[in-house]
Amino acid sequence: MIIAAIRSGTDPAAPLPPAAFHRWLEDPIYCPKCEATYILVLGYDDAISRHFANDSRRHLQMLRKAVMLGHSTDHRISHFETNGVVVTSHATPKPPPTPNPAATLTAPPLTNRIQ
Ligand SMILES: [Zn+2]
Repeated sequence: MIIAAIRSGTDPAAPLPPAAFHRWLEDPIYCPKCEATYILVLGYDDAISRHFANDSRRHLQMLRKAVMLGHSTDHRISHFETNGVVVTSHATPKPPPTPNPAATLTAPPLTNRIQ
């Protein structure tokens, strides 16, 4: 079973867990330190399983921790996914490339200054 957590107000950064149908859980994960909210989605068959409460416990625990840790990086990761063993972070697709402002800040090579 795979459960994905997607930040409310953002689009999934990767495909949703493989399933014919998906179910969005009613109880999202809230960051304990700010207003960030992650909505949980998983395969419909897993969600309606009578073992779901038990089977999902570890998944939810890991996702909660991932959301909490994400607070320190401004919740830049908007999409987490876990199989109950590891949490995968999906970075949000980058915006269209813009000229790199760092280039203008680069100091000229030292050899030029010596001449
Ligand atoms: Zn937060």
